[in-house]
Amino acid sequence: MELVEESPYRFRIDQRDPMRVPGVVFASRALLPDIAGDRSLEQVANVATLPGIVEASYAMPDVHWGYGFPIGGVAATDVGADGVVSPGGVGFDISCGVRLLTADLDRTALPALLTGLMDGLDHAIPRGMSKGAVWQLDGRAQLDEVMRGGSRYAVERGHGVERDLYRCEDYGAVTDADPGQVSERAVQRGQGQVGSLGSGNHFLEVQAVDEVYDEPVATAFGLRAGQVCVMIHSGSRGLGHQICTDHVRVMERSMTRYGIEIPDRQLACSPVSSPEGRAYLGAMAAAANYARANRQLLTEATRRVFEQVAGSGLDLVYDVSHNLAKIETHGYDGTQRRLCVHRKGATRALPPGHPDLPADLIEVGQPVLIPGSMGTASYVLTGAAGGPAFASTCHGAGRVRSRKQATRAVHGQDVRSQLEARNIAVRGASRRGLAEEMPEAYKDVSAVVESAERAGLCRPVARLLPLGVVKG
Ligand code: 5GP
Ligand code: MN
Ligand code: MN
Repeated sequence: MELVEESPYRFRIDQRDPMRVPGVVFASRALLPDIAGDRSLEQVANVATLPGIVEASYAMPDVHWGYGFPIGGVAATDVGADGVVSPGGVGFDISCGVRLLTADLDRTALPALLTGLMDGLDHAIPRGMSKGAVWQLDGRAQLDEVMRGGSRYAVERGHGVERDLYRCEDYGAVTDADPGQVSERAVQRGQGQVGSLGSGNHFLEVQAVDEVYDEPVATAFGLRAGQVCVMIHSGSRGLGHQICTDHVRVMERSMTRYGIEIPDRQLACSPVSSPEGRAYLGAMAAAANYARANRQLLTEATRRVFEQVAGSGLDLVYDVSHNLAKIETHGYDGTQRRLCVHRKGATRALPPGHPDLPADLIEVGQPVLIPGSMGTASYVLTGAAGGPAFASTCHGAGRVRSRKQATRAVHGQDVRSQLEARNIAVRGASRRGLAEEMPEAYKDVSAVVESAERAGLCRPVARLLPLGVVKG
C-alpha cells in the first residue's frame, strides 16, 4: 500500500478506482511499520468505496485490523446523498467505551488501602464469559427500558446520581432506540449482563494521575496530580454482538437491491434512510444505551467498594463510546450536512465551544479517555479546535500483536508476577488471558497520543498510571 506523506503526521492513500475518496492515516513515520504490519491499510482503502462517503476514509494512529473496517477508523457518509450505514463500521461491541471516575484520595494513601480495594473489586465486579451481573432485571419489559433509557434509566432507578448524567455523552442515552429491532436471541444474551465487565480487553483499573499537562483543563475535568482514579472499559456484551451479527446478515442480503457493490462482504451496508439502515440504527441505539447502563452499574458497584474500604466517593469525569455511528451535522463542501459518522475504535472529541458539551465543559472541550494497557500509562485528552476527521481521535494504544502471537511471546513468562513486581495489583483473568493482554501486545500509547496531538486531532490533559487492574 503506497502512502504519500502530506505532513509529518498525515499520510494519504491516493484515490483510485473504486475508491470514492482518498484514505488518510494520522500517524508518525515511526508508527507506520506497526500500522503496515497487518491489512488495516487495505481496509482503509476499502472503506473509501462506501456509497456516500465524504472527505476521506480516516485512520487514527492506533489503527489495526478489524472486521471489515479497521479498528481506529472514522468514516462519514452524507445522509442526504444516499450515504450508507455499515454495522462493520461500528463493530461487534456496540458503544464499547470508557469512563473515568475520580476518588477523593491521594495516591500516597493507597499503599495501605490497595489490597482491600482490589479484593473488594474482585468480589464485586462480575466478569469473564460466565454469568452474573450487578443488576438483576425484571424481565424483557425492564430490559426494553434499559435499551431506551441507558444511564438515565439506571439513575432514575437509583443506580447513580443526576450529576453522572451531565458527564455522559448524550446525557446518558441516545434517542431513537428501537428495542423492536432487537432479536429475541440478542435479548436472551443481554438479559443477565447489565453490570458486567466482559472478558479480554475489558477492564476496571485503579489508577493515579501521574502528570498534568494542562492545568486549567484538568481542573475543569476534576483532575489533579496524585489523585486516585478508576477507569472502566466495557461495552454492550452479548446483546451488541448479536445485534451486529443479525443486522450484517440482513444487509448482506439487501445490497443488490440498492445496487451497492463493495470489495469486502464484511462492509455490508444499507442507505441510512432505507428500512434496513433505520432498523440497524434503531437496534444499534438500543445497544448503545445498554452499554451506558452497563458502565453505570459497574460504577455503582465500584462506588460501594470505595465507600466501604476507603470512605471515598467517586465522581464521574466522563463516559464516552469508541464504537458507534452517529448522525451529526458537520460543515462539509461549504454547507452544513447531516452525516452518519462511523467511529470504530475511535473516540468523539468535541472541541471547546461545541454546543453538545455540558455547561461546565464548554470552555475546555470534551474529555477523551485513552487506555494504554494494563502495564503502561493511559491518557486523558480534550478535543482540539478545528481538528480534522469530524471531531474524532484515537481510542487506545491499538493492538500490534494478535492474541495468538502475544500468547506465544510470553511463553514461560508470568505476566502477573511481572506486573506485581512493578506494584500493579492484578485480579481475575486466566494466565492465558493475561498473556493475550500483555503490555507488549499493544503499540506505545505515548507515541500514539503524541501522533494524535501533532496531527491536530486532540490535546493532552493528563497521564494516568495503573495501580491495580481487574481483568475480564
Ligand atoms: P478495544 O476497545 O480496541 O478493545 O481496546 C481499547 C484499548 O484499550 C486498546 O487499544 C488498549 O490500548 C487498551 N487496553 C487494553 N487492555 C487494557 C488494560 O488492561 N488497561 C488499560 N489501561 N488499557 C488497556
Ligand atoms: Mn469492547
Ligand atoms: Mn473498547
